[in-house]
Amino acid sequence: MNGAPTMRAHSQQDIRAADVDLRVISHAERDRLHGRACARCGAPSPHRPAGYAFAVGRDGGRLGWPVRVCSNCPTSGG
Ligand SMILES: [Zn+2]
Repeated sequence: MNGAPTMRAHSQQDIRAADVDLRVISHAERDRLHGRACARCGAPSPHRPAGYAFAVGRDGGRLGWPVRVCSNCPTSGG
């Protein structure tokens, strides 16, 4: 292991666990940010509010996005 800052983990995880870089966001991540997919597992049609995910835009500003989770995922935590 080296001590360098690591890249954001792969997208197959809770979208709330790390900031999303809007410059390199994937379709799957975008769906999660916009509430079209579960923030945690990516399941379609999530319906429970689950706090916020954070994304970093082109200017470096950090934006909070209200996200949702499916009925199988906890609304808190990553
Ligand atoms: Zn889920």
